[in-house]
Amino acid sequence: MRVIKLLVRKLDYLTKDQVDEVYRAYHLANDAHVGQRRYTGEPYITHPIAVACILAEIRMDKESIIAGLLHDVVEDTHVTKAEIARQFGDTVADIVEGVTKLSKIEFKSRTEAQAENFSKMVLAMSKDIRVIIVKLADRLHNMRTIDSLPIPKRRRIAKETLEIYAPIANRLGMHSFYLELEDLGFKASYPRRFRILQKAVDKATGNRKEIFDVIFKSIKTGLNNSLVDKYEVKGREKHLYGIYKKMIKKRLQFDEIMDVYGFRVIVASLDMCYRVLGIMHGLYKPVPGRFKDYISLPKANGYQSIHTTLVGPYGVPIEVQIRTFEMDEQANNGIAAHWLYKSGVQQTEMTEIKEQQWLKNLLDMQQRTGSSEEFIENAKVDLFPDEVYVFTPNGNIIQLPAGATPVDFAYAIHTDIGNFCVAAKIDRQLAPLSKRLSNGQTIEIITSRSARPNPNWLDFVVTGKARSSLRNYLKMQKRAESVSLGKRLLDKSLASFSLSSKKIPAEKFDALLAETKLESREDLYAEIGMGNRVPMLVAHRLADALKVQSAEEGAHDKSAAPLMIHGTEGLVIQMAECCYPLPGDPIVGIISSGQGVIVHSEFCHHIAKLRLDPDVCMPLRWEPNIKGEFTTVIEVDVINRRGVLGEMANAVAAAGANIDDIHVFERDDHRYTVSFTMIVDDRAHLAIVIRNIRKLKSVVHVRRK
Ligand code: MN
Repeated sequence: MRVIKLLVRKLDYLTKDQVDEVYRAYHLANDAHVGQRRYTGEPYITHPIAVACILAEIRMDKESIIAGLLHDVVEDTHVTKAEIARQFGDTVADIVEGVTKLSKIEFKSRTEAQAENFSKMVLAMSKDIRVIIVKLADRLHNMRTIDSLPIPKRRRIAKETLEIYAPIANRLGMHSFYLELEDLGFKASYPRRFRILQKAVDKATGNRKEIFDVIFKSIKTGLNNSLVDKYEVKGREKHLYGIYKKMIKKRLQFDEIMDVYGFRVIVASLDMCYRVLGIMHGLYKPVPGRFKDYISLPKANGYQSIHTTLVGPYGVPIEVQIRTFEMDEQANNGIAAHWLYKSGVQQTEMTEIKEQQWLKNLLDMQQRTGSSEEFIENAKVDLFPDEVYVFTPNGNIIQLPAGATPVDFAYAIHTDIGNFCVAAKIDRQLAPLSKRLSNGQTIEIITSRSARPNPNWLDFVVTGKARSSLRNYLKMQKRAESVSLGKRLLDKSLASFSLSSKKIPAEKFDALLAETKLESREDLYAEIGMGNRVPMLVAHRLADALKVQSAEEGAHDKSAAPLMIHGTEGLVIQMAECCYPLPGDPIVGIISSGQGVIVHSEFCHHIAKLRLDPDVCMPLRWEPNIKGEFTTVIEVDVINRRGVLGEMANAVAAAGANIDDIHVFERDDHRYTVSFTMIVDDRAHLAIVIRNIRKLKSVVHVRRK
C-alpha cells in the first residue's frame, strides 16, 4: 500500500523500533477493516492512516500514532481493547478506548452554555490528553472529506465541529487545528456564504497584492540590512470563519476587516525578537498604544509573541507578530507541542518552566512540577477534578460538583423534582439515589406525588441547593407533623376535663398564648408535638381558666385511652433504636424535648424510670392493619462453619425481609454472634424470619435485641 509509505516517511523523528511497531499496528488495522469502505468509496483503512499522518505532522509520540491507526477498530471491528493492550500496551488501549467513548456521546442541545459544558465534559472524560488530540485529528480528517457525506449528516457534524471541537482545539492552544476545523465547519454549514466570502477575500487580496509586496519587500530588506539570519516572513493566513464572525458579531464591514495587512516574522532566538521589533519600528511608524509584549507576559493559554501595529504606505495599517520558531510551533500546536520530538534542541530550563506554567494556566491543574518526561506521565489527569457533567434525558448537560448523586441532580433541575424523587436511572439502569455520578452518564429521575424527601439524603448530597432544599422541606414537614401531633396530644389531655380544643373559647387560648409568648395556636400545638411542652400541663391551664374541675370517672377513662400510632407519622413520632418496637408489640410513648414522641416497647429497660412520670410517658396503641416498614434487630448465636452467614441471609430473604446491616462478634474459636438489622412488616413477620433461622443446623440461639 502506498499510503502507509506516506505515513512512514513522516515518522523520521521516531526510532526504527518504534516505526516497526507502527507498522504492526497498521497491519492489525488493515486486516480488521478489510472489506469496509468509507463514504468516499475508498477502503476504510485510508482514514486511520490519514489520522495517523495528521498526528505525525505535529510529531506526536508513538503511542498517539498507533492509537490513531487503531482508533476505529474497537467500535467497528472484532478487535477488542484487550487485544490492543496485549499487542501495544495499556496506554495505547486506553487512548483508543477514550476516543471510542468520545465518539459515542452525542451532542443535542443548541445553547452556547450547553456547548461550553459539552466541551468541558469531553475534556473531563479524557483522562489522557492524547485522547483528545487523536480525536481532533480524527475529526479534522472527517471534516476534510465531509463532502462525500449525505447532507443532513454533513450539517450535524459541521455544527458539532464548530460548537465543540474547534473550541476544544482553541482551548488546548492548537491554533492550526482550530483554524482549519472552523473554516471546514463554516464551509459545510454555510456553503453559499463561504463561497461568497472566499471570492471577496481573493479579490481583495488580489487588489492589495501590490501594497502587500511593497511592505513584504521592505521588511525583508530591513532584516537583511541588519544582518538578521535564519528568519522567516509570512503574510498572515486568512481565517474565513474569523472574518465572518467579526462581520456578524462586531458588525464590521468587510473592507474594515480586510484593510489590515498582517505579517509574521519568525526568528531563531528570544533576543532577536526584540531586535526585530526595533527594526520594524524603524521601517514604519508604530501606532501608539498598539504594542503588546506577550513574550514577557504570555497569554493564559501560553501563547507568546510580540504584537505591534505600524502605519504603512498610503497610511494602511500593518499588524506584525514577532516570535521564535519554538513559540510559533507552540502557537500552532498548543498542547501537542509538548510531544514534539526535540532532537538536537537543548531544552532550556526556561522553556520547561514555561511549559509548566502554560499547562497550569490552561487546564487549571494543580501542583505540577518536574521535567518534561514527567509532563507526559502527568498527561493522564483529571482535567476538571472538581466537576462532573451529566446529561438529562433530553440531552441537556448539567454541571455538578464531583461526588454528586442523583438527588443532587434532581434538585439541580427543580426543587419539586428533588422533593418528589423516588428512584433514579443511570444510563437506563435503576440505581440507588446515593450513587456517585460519572461524566457522560444520562440521568433520569423517577418522581411520585406521594414521595417525601428522606432525611438520610443529607448524609450523601453534596450540592448546596440539594442540602438547603432538603433542610427546608424537612423543617416544614416537621412543623406540620408536630402541629398535628400536638393537637392530638392536647385533645387527649383535655378529654380528662371533658373538654376539647374546639370547645375552648378563643380568648382563653389567646390569654394562654400571651402568657407563653407564643404567636398562634399552631405554634402551641407545634411546641407540644415537639415535646417542648407537656400536654397535660397545658390542658390543666386551660381547664383552670375555664374553672372546669377535674375528671369524672368517664372522662378519666377517655384520657387513659391510648393514642393510636400507625408508624408512618413521620419525623415527630419515631421508633426507639434501643428496643425497635414492631406492630403487635405492646408500646408506650415517651415525650422527648425537641423530638416529639419516641415509641418504645413496653418492656424496654431503657425507660424504666421515665415510665413512672405521667408527664412524659403516655399510653400508645398500634392502629389495626398497619402497613409499613419497620426496623428491628435480632441476634443469632452460631457455630463457626463455612457458609453459615450466607445460609442465614438466605433464610431472612426467604421470609421476605430485607437485611439492612450485619455485624459479626466473635465469642470464641468456634462460636460467634451475628446481629442482623432488618426491615419487617410487623411482629408476626419477624416470627417467621426467626423460625426460618432456627431451622438452620449451625444456629444455637436466636433472640430479639
Ligand atoms: Mn475515525
